[in-house]
Amino acid sequence: MNCNIIKDLLPSYADGVCSDETRKVVEEHIQECAKCRSLLTMLQQEITYVQPLPEEVKKAISPFKKINRRRYFNIIAAVAITFMVMVIGMSIYQNVGVVHNFFSPSQWGNVVIASEEDEWQQVDFSIFVDEPQDYVMFDSVFWKKAVVNVAGSDGDIRLRIKDDSGQIIIDDVTIKEGARLELKELKRNKKYYFEIQAPPGRYSINAI
Ligand SMILES: [Zn+2]
Repeated sequence: MNCNIIKDLLPSYADGVCSDETRKVVEEHIQECAKCRSLLTMLQQEITYVQPLPEEVKKAISPFKKINRRRYFNIIAAVAITFMVMVIGMSIYQNVGVVHNFFSPSQWGNVVIASEEDEWQQVDFSIFVDEPQDYVMFDSVFWKKAVVNVAGSDGDIRLRIKDDSGQIIIDDVTIKEGARLELKELKRNKKYYFEIQAPPGRYSINAI
């Protein structure tokens, strides 16, 4: 049988709509002819690709599609809500002084050194506090327990810290202007008195 005739018959054979005689002829031919056999294979593959999904399969898939869409929406909503809460939280933290002070406590101290002398001078922590205060108390877990020689002070300072029995806890540490000293050894809920020595000038320190 001629390959060209078989080629004409192959589509209907692949679709399964040919007569029994045609089927027989095609099958006989493709057993012998590799070219027509591969043509048939290609045709059959094309048919499977083109065939749409059967209705039952579509019906079975669609609820999953819906669930996926809802889950996707939930994830987006969760992300959006988290973001909003963060933004609101940050703006409360930054704008509401009480909240800010609670989570980032700090206490500002001031010393004015008038003359050149080798004496320790006590830091006054009364700025931004209603009552005069000469001590620092790390009374919550939010204290970082550190002290900063605030940038803008008139220079480096030497610092020592006493507890309320007068015992020196930290002795004579130099803190450069703008630098920070960790005070991990200080305990919570105890009063500490800060003293500094420095050349004449104005010094600001910040206990944080
Ligand atoms: Zn052939």
